[in-house]
Amino acid sequence: MAEEKRTEIDKLGEFGLIERLAGGVKHYHPETIRGIGDDAAVLDIGNEFLITSTDLLTEGIHFDLSYVPLQHLGYKAIAVNVSDIAAMNGKPKQVTVSMGLSNRFSVEAVEALYEGIHAACKDYEVDLVGGDTTASSSGLILSVTALGTVGKHDIIYRSGAQENDILCVTGDLGGAFIGLQILEREKQEYLANPEMQPKLEKYDYVVGRQLRPKARMDILHELRDLVVKPSAMIDLSDGLASDAFHLCKASDLGIVIYEDKLPIDKQTYETAAEFSMDPNTCALNGGEDYELLFTIPPGDFDKIKNHADIHTIGYMQKKENGKAFVTRNGNTVELKAQGWKHF
Ligand code: ADP
Ligand code: MG
Repeated sequence: MAEEKRTEIDKLGEFGLIERLAGGVKHYHPETIRGIGDDAAVLDIGNEFLITSTDLLTEGIHFDLSYVPLQHLGYKAIAVNVSDIAAMNGKPKQVTVSMGLSNRFSVEAVEALYEGIHAACKDYEVDLVGGDTTASSSGLILSVTALGTVGKHDIIYRSGAQENDILCVTGDLGGAFIGLQILEREKQEYLANPEMQPKLEKYDYVVGRQLRPKARMDILHELRDLVVKPSAMIDLSDGLASDAFHLCKASDLGIVIYEDKLPIDKQTYETAAEFSMDPNTCALNGGEDYELLFTIPPGDFDKIKNHADIHTIGYMQKKENGKAFVTRNGNTVELKAQGWKHF
């Protein structure tokens, strides 16, 4: 009997797999402006574009309910989808929520999850308009789809960056990753000694970054006020390096990132040190910060240079010049992307 070919998924990785599947996709409608490959799909609905994005969160892979309160999980599931709409410069309008529930979950537990969902819907002014509910044999599965709109001239793709455009990032980086390390450590200590009370106060900022990320809708409004339209944009879900790679790939460019420009909060810095981790590595490769990474034409630099929450961290260069990371002591090394590996 002929042996069937079997390729392990981790050989391709998440992105390799998506790329392979995307290869077989054909669009049948002229209204489908962009499909797979950006933060959200883009559909022409007449006067403006409709944009839509989906995320799936599975228990044990994306969250651990021994330290993630259900309210926070509900909030985060909405916020991370809104973040993808923000990354297209869009306005989020509706969400649908689908879940698979094992019999471990009570009505009260699902209500707690929905408390968080409602809180996020209120904060981002989005309407919960549907979803699906089913049984699951393996814990909680949560999927959110967000819909939003954007003016046809306002949309920002990952692919619009130009050579010499300045690379900007909002907020600070690495906090969500280091917050996760704290939660994992506390869990292990609790398992070893259930009498122990978790000591999280000292780590409130980074733990908050992990449990309750924010979509940076505020930045979109501020950029509009400054009359700056980024040439390309992505939200940081996989980590700065990995998401910068997506910008490079979509825009067919190389990049330069400076280590000494990476914005890192003091608490992230100090907590990384506790774990003997390099805070810059946390900033580069830690995921789930949900900040915005975008490029602007050099001529717009003056407009953003005094903004307290927008940091210029590098620039785009010719693809042939590669992806470079300039270390604090001035050495240039190749930028490497680890990203999240779920497979
Ligand atoms: P993000 O991190 O912004 O949510 P992803 O990395 O999850 O983006 O996805 C990248 C692109 O691949 C998106 O356009 C997404 O819609 C698409 N994609 C992901 N998984 C699948 C799939 N199973 N089938 C089709 N498209 C997919
Ligand atoms: Mg995204």
